[in-house]
Amino acid sequence: MPACRFCFTTYPREFFILGNGPRKDVCQRCGIEEGLIEESEAAMLFDAGLASSRLTLLSRRWAPMLWVLALWGMWFVILSDIPTWGMFSLIVLIIVSLVLPVNMMLNRAKYSALFSGLTPTHQRPPGH
Ligand SMILES: [Zn+2]
Repeated sequence: MPACRFCFTTYPREFFILGNGPRKDVCQRCGIEEGLIEESEAAMLFDAGLASSRLTLLSRRWAPMLWVLALWGMWFVILSDIPTWGMFSLIVLIIVSLVLPVNMMLNRAKYSALFSGLTPTHQRPPGH
């Protein structure tokens, strides 16, 4: 993946503007800031609604994993010393920890489809 000359961030190729000279290796966001392209030309620069939809989808996918990590932390700190509830919650946590990655793998195609639905279509021109 190429890096932008201005912000030094690496993006996939479709996030860069096309052209030679001053337009070479400039991401769309920096292209707008430097005045090289108009905002309407930056297809991969998402508006606030699309960006928020993408962030919501991403957080919905990864939130259960963070919850399980937080619950493991809570179990080690609080619940591990309580005899009955500690064992019961440990069993539940182990089951959830084993089922969650499988569930995420099974839902990966659905997530990819939803995420690509929120990604603008990019036609790579010939020669790029
Ligand atoms: Zn940049």
